[in-house]
Amino acid sequence: MYILHLLKLFLSTILYYSGASRAALKIMLKIKPAHFIFMYHRVNDGNHNIFSGLDIGILEKQIKALKRYFKFVTLSEFVGLINNSDKPLTVITFDDGYKNTFTNAFPILKKNNLPATVFLTTGVIDNDDIIWTDKLSMLKRTDAASLEKLKTELKNVPNSDKENRIKQWESCPGIDYKSIPEAEKMLSWDEVKIMAKEPNIEFGAHTVNHLILTKVNKEEAEKEIIDSKQKIETELSRKITAFCYPNGQAGDFNEAVIEILRENGFTCAVTTIEGKIKKDDNNFALKRISLGERPPHLVVLKIIKEVLKNV
Ligand SMILES: [Zn+2]
Repeated sequence: MYILHLLKLFLSTILYYSGASRAALKIMLKIKPAHFIFMYHRVNDGNHNIFSGLDIGILEKQIKALKRYFKFVTLSEFVGLINNSDKPLTVITFDDGYKNTFTNAFPILKKNNLPATVFLTTGVIDNDDIIWTDKLSMLKRTDAASLEKLKTELKNVPNSDKENRIKQWESCPGIDYKSIPEAEKMLSWDEVKIMAKEPNIEFGAHTVNHLILTKVNKEEAEKEIIDSKQKIETELSRKITAFCYPNGQAGDFNEAVIEILRENGFTCAVTTIEGKIKKDDNNFALKRISLGERPPHLVVLKIIKEVLKNV
């Protein structure tokens, strides 16, 4: 298996640097334009202590590779364009609202004059709190063995239980919020407002507490959605129309959740389900791609693979 992996790596490198895979992708996209939404979370600069994330250098290389093939737009522009666009379109999205979206990713976006959509979890802005999935990551540092079990448990319990269980874990030796360096915390509204001055940086809602919306009752789901939207709209004085489902897998949203979004002025929502975007896809169940740590030649290979799926 290792030999096969090495061979794949070797061939994809040759194909990329000889220009063959790059040319193949260009032709493929010309024949049949495909559109993609790429998903990012934390972007680290090498000085992180606690939370892992994508290296800033890799992000820049991936973005430069994507620029060869795609026109970058924000998510709300994307949904208005995909059904009539002959050009392959792409959106880069940053989830959760990490401070390093501002300190590390934003300078790259600005330098390359690229649009992006940033999803904010409003309950952890301007305070020392972090989202519950990151609390799990902190726990992982001391108790990796039970983490996966707890993670699955947490995703399947109602919110009231979730809070209680997290509180129990907070007494674990690995959970110490004061130990989180400033650079690894969440965004402040001041930072959000600086980014919002760039006309091509869009903000979307990602709930207040990052709760999985199918695991709470309708009133709670409504509150999570509406309160996060209103908070961003008040802070930025602009309409918010894009949404990102916490966790974002098939069981994490449903028709009832989509109805709440529609009723409250959203026009689109992204998931974490992997795939390209096809014409007439449901704008409230948009798939995304995570490129992980792929270097440019594997980015191209990944996109070729996705373009060829279900052709
Ligand atoms: Zn999230």
